[in-house]
This record gives sequence, structure tokens and C-alpha cells, in this order.
Amino acid sequence: MSEQLLKVRGLKMHFPTPKGVVKAVDGLDLDIAAGETVGLVGESGCGKSTTARGITHLIRPTAGHVEFEGQDLSLASHRELRETRKRMQMVFQDPYASLDPRMTVLQIVGEPIRNFKIARGKKAVRARVRDLLLKVGLDPEFERRYPHEFSGGQRQRIGVARALAVEPSLILCDEPVSALDVSIQAQIINLLEDLQDEFGLAFLFISHDLSVVRHVSDRIAVMYLGRIVETAPSAKLYEKPLHPYTEALLSAVPIPDPEKEAKRERIMLTGDVPNPLEKIVGCPFKPRCAKAFGRCGEELPALKEYQPGHFAACHLHEEHE
Ligand code: SF4
Repeated sequence: MSEQLLKVRGLKMHFPTPKGVVKAVDGLDLDIAAGETVGLVGESGCGKSTTARGITHLIRPTAGHVEFEGQDLSLASHRELRETRKRMQMVFQDPYASLDPRMTVLQIVGEPIRNFKIARGKKAVRARVRDLLLKVGLDPEFERRYPHEFSGGQRQRIGVARALAVEPSLILCDEPVSALDVSIQAQIINLLEDLQDEFGLAFLFISHDLSVVRHVSDRIAVMYLGRIVETAPSAKLYEKPLHPYTEALLSAVPIPDPEKEAKRERIMLTGDVPNPLEKIVGCPFKPRCAKAFGRCGEELPALKEYQPGHFAACHLHEEHE
């Protein structure tokens, strides 16, 4: 078994508003081993991005524990948290928004190298930046250019180079390819996989699209309204999803085999997503679930292991056990 890198237990991210408390993340457990890629999927607004910000402590969690490389971040000092962020980097969806337009590539990628003292002196920083540009498939001569001079895919490569600059062990990628054309998406995903092989990196790969995370992820966690509702090794989840929400998400993914694709039945989700300000009794997916039955309106289903490594939060499977 690989070494445990990240352990999240009972993570809660609650935000008070004038109308009540929004529970963006409400009791989330997640593990990532060294060198592993975990895909975190769910519709937009389900709490995926807030989860990433809670894990990195960019936003302090309301409750719960995040243990990273054996350190409990809730007990970490400001200085320790800063050091942790060096090992746990983020890559964002919109590289244009996350790169300062007034800075050259040399300044953008060089900044964390200087801040974290990865290299000292202009010459050494520049050499490291040029090396990183090569690693992410960019010409080192681009170092003097500004973000607006690049395509979307190239900008995302700069974002990846900046994240890599501080030698992280985990990169949280928040919808890293959603803003890119399909052909460019594949190139960026291949790049991330190559870098993973070279540096033994672990990834949390956040996406609303199951077809994007399918090939990159060792394991997938499906999130619905602030909680994980199913998690399994990637192949198992695609082969036999246990949660009705995962079934619906998967039914929207095109199948490469034309025969199977012709028979693919799309599960349309009807019913409303519950108002996050209202207290939810029972299963939060119930208003949209075609398989709901009596117990679903009364009790919140717990995440339970039904097959080795395959967990789901659904009363249906408890009844079948
Ligand atoms: Fe559907 Fe009930 Fe399972 Fe929730 S617990 S997903 S409502 S069957």
C-alpha cells in the first residue's frame, strides 16, 4: 500500500449569510496516497472548489481535520501553513485570471522560487524557470513574454510550471481543462500524467465532467451537496456505479464503442436541488432520485463500504445487503 499523503476527516465549510448558513461542504472524508490521482466530480455548486480551498486552508475550515504529510493543519501555525502550501499547490480553471497580466513568465514562475528560496540569485532562479518551461513543453525563450501573448493551453502550462516550481507532492487541479478545447484538454492531461510519472506527484483532479477524470484517476469520489456520495477505484465506478446520482452522471458520458453508444440510455435528473439554506432531512438526493423509497426521506445515508474500496451513501444498498 502506498504511503498516505492526505487524510481529510469530517471537513465542514459553512458560510453564514444574512439568510442563513450555507453548508458548502458538510462532513467530507477523503484520502489521497503518494503518487495517486483522485478525481473529485459533481455538478457545479456541489462544493468541489470549496473543498480544495478547505484542504489547502486558503479558507479555514469550519470543522474537521486535514492531515497532510503527517501534519494536522488545524494545529499548524501561520508559518507552518505557508510551508505546507509549498508542498500542496493549486492549478486553477482559468489560467488567465490566475496569472498576473503585468508580469512576465520569468516573474510569474520565478516568484514562488524566490519566495520559498528554492533557488537564490537571479541566475539560478532564471535557470530554474527555463528548466520548468521545458518540462511543461514551452520554449524557454518565452520567459520574457506576458500572459496575453499565449493561447489558453499555453497559459495553463505556465500555471502548471508555477505550481511545480516549489517541488510539491500534491497538486489540486480545479477544473484545469474545462476552459480549453477538447484537443488541448488531452494535451494538458497528458502533460500532467507525464509530470506525475517523473516527479511522483499526487493529484486531486476536480471536474464537473466524469469523462475528463476517467482516464487520469486511480480513484474517483463523487460529490453531491457538500458530501461524498460514492467513491471507488476508477474502473469499478464506471463498471458498476452504486449511487443513483453517479449512475445519472455516467449516463451522460459518451461511450467510444459505437454499438454500446447506440444503446446508451441517458438518465435525466428531474426535481430540484434542495436549497442549501434549508435544513435537509433524509437523503439530500431524494427530490431527484427515481429510486427513492420511504427511508430516504427520514434518514441521512452514511458512506459505507459495499465492496473492497467501493463506498456509497445510499439506503438502497443497505436494504439489499
Ligand atoms: Fe436515492 Fe434513497 Fe439512495 Fe438517496 S438513499 S440515493 S434517495 S435510493
